[in-house]
Amino acid sequence: MQRMTTLPSAALVALVNGALLAGLAISWFVPPPRTSGPGWLKCQLHAHADAGVGVMEALGEYARLGYDAVAVCNHNGFAAAPSFPGLVVISACEHQGKQLHVVELRGTRERCRILAHPAWSRLSPKTFSTEVKHCHAWEIVNGFCGARGDSSAYAGLTGKPRLAADDTHSLADIGRTATWIYAERNADSIIAAIRAGRVCPAVIPGPAPARDPRRN
Ligand SMILES: [Zn+2]
Ligand SMILES: [Zn+2]
Repeated sequence: MQRMTTLPSAALVALVNGALLAGLAISWFVPPPRTSGPGWLKCQLHAHADAGVGVMEALGEYARLGYDAVAVCNHNGFAAAPSFPGLVVISACEHQGKQLHVVELRGTRERCRILAHPAWSRLSPKTFSTEVKHCHAWEIVNGFCGARGDSSAYAGLTGKPRLAADDTHSLADIGRTATWIYAERNADSIIAAIRAGRVCPAVIPGPAPARDPRRN
């Protein structure tokens, strides 16, 4: 301390300036932060929050499997969308009629309606063609419904965007399907992208990667 006070003031100024310049020089080599913008996101658009798996447990599995976004729904009610590190969590509701099931996604400003598993619902081509008009997209594949979740027979009946969804009821359902969506990492952008058709459904081959000890 004594030595510092004896330094000439010009030397102190030079020291301070040097430190500032060194700091600036270092900062020039720090890469700029990644700009936000749209990209292809791995999304799960139909995961139940009121079934046999806890929401946080399911979200943890989806995060582990590299998903970017998950829509959590209740049967006939909107599910809360908890925050989860690394995931966009979207509030959703599966409206279940006698035959028709429609998943509705709700963002801050945007909403969309998805016709769920038409083959499992045994919709006639005529009913499908009528009902899909009231939706923005539909599930061509539903993992939970297995073979009856393959709705590709309806593909020629509409030009609406096609999605693939797990319809998660247990840990074993997680990771069978995904829909890639070109959007920014927020619920409104994802929902808008679904409505615009910037989507690509995918079935993930092989056994479900998650293990469910309650089933083994
Ligand atoms: Zn359903
Ligand atoms: Zn469902």
